[in-house]
Amino acid sequence: MNSILVVLETRNGALRPASLEALGAARALADAKGGSVLALATETAELDLAQLGSAGADQVFQCERAQHSAESSAATAAKLAQEKACDVVFLAATVRGRDLTPRIAALLDTGFAADCTAIDPENMVFTRPVYAGKALLQVRVTGPVVVASLRPNFFSPANRSHQANLESFAAEAGASEVVAIEAAASGRPDVAEASRVVAGGRGLGAAENWGLLEAVADAIPGAALGASRAVVDAGWRPHSEQVGQTGKTVAPELYIAAGISGAIQHLAGMNSSKVIVAINKDADAPIFQHATYGIVGDVKDVLPVLAEELKKIQN
Ligand SMILES: Cc1cc2nc3c(=O)[nH]c(=O)nc-3n(C[C@H](O)[C@H](O)[C@H](O)COP(=O)(O)OP(=O)(O)OC[C@H]3O[C@@H](n4cnc5c(N)ncnc54)[C@H](O)[C@@H]3O)c2cc1C
Repeated sequence: MNSILVVLETRNGALRPASLEALGAARALADAKGGSVLALATETAELDLAQLGSAGADQVFQCERAQHSAESSAATAAKLAQEKACDVVFLAATVRGRDLTPRIAALLDTGFAADCTAIDPENMVFTRPVYAGKALLQVRVTGPVVVASLRPNFFSPANRSHQANLESFAAEAGASEVVAIEAAASGRPDVAEASRVVAGGRGLGAAENWGLLEAVADAIPGAALGASRAVVDAGWRPHSEQVGQTGKTVAPELYIAAGISGAIQHLAGMNSSKVIVAINKDADAPIFQHATYGIVGDVKDVLPVLAEELKKIQN
């Protein structure tokens, strides 16, 4: 193998954690098959070369450009992949990664494996969950370059002592330009990337009761808020927090499901979580069949006690 290119994702000048995981996957592949790991930031960002080197990168390329645009970023990544004769291109399967992956594959005249959760380096076969996680697809890309997007929280950054080299790279122009991105500032991490998620369902009863859930999230460092579709459809929470088949797929270390029944479409988005804590007043709720720990009780009673106890642990 010659080299593997990882297209980094930055937002407001900061690197997204899922990009470090993609670098770790690339490092593991390069260690197994030989070759170097290149990383590309298609927009100006504060890059920590020791962090990128530790996660797996040998060489980092950076464009001097204010704002990401899908067309331009894909063209830039494809150009670098061609110039450096890369055999593999990895991206994180985030919203942006899902946008870029097929564009890059098309520009390189190859195929891609989307939303992968495992890699068999020997046979270059990627695992991809389909049908809401009920089946696992084994995908091999037969085109000249292997392009794949990797699901966040399934791969780990490498942990080595290495400082990556930095080089600048000229961005390709696109036919459209993003002039600004205005995100609703929640102050919490993205639910798809957080290692701890506190999610609520219709059992919370009303949007006004979300404070009960927020108090629990506040007591868990780095916790994101999640929601079931019922809650999003009711307008209690934004769609960006929805977990499930038509929302985000998460795989945190800890997933607290409060007042969520455990419908198959919700499970599809979170049943890879390492530890699942379910709180539901119905002892027969399906979520309990998937929970590591179950609390049968009313969320209005349980959540304040949980928040209080978690705060004590923090202190
Ligand atoms: C094509 C399709 C795609 C879908 N995509 C998604 C998706 O991406 N994500 C998703 O979540 N859903 C999705 N759904 C909807 C899904 O089928 C369920 O309707 C939804 O997940 C239910 O949300 P819920 O668990 O919050 O509500 P409910 O099913 O109403 O469950 C509420 C739960 O709260 C419990 N409860 C009630 N009051 C209390 C209380 N005071 N204390 C404790 N527990 C209490 C109840 O016992 C119940 O188990 C999809 C459906 C379809 C058809």
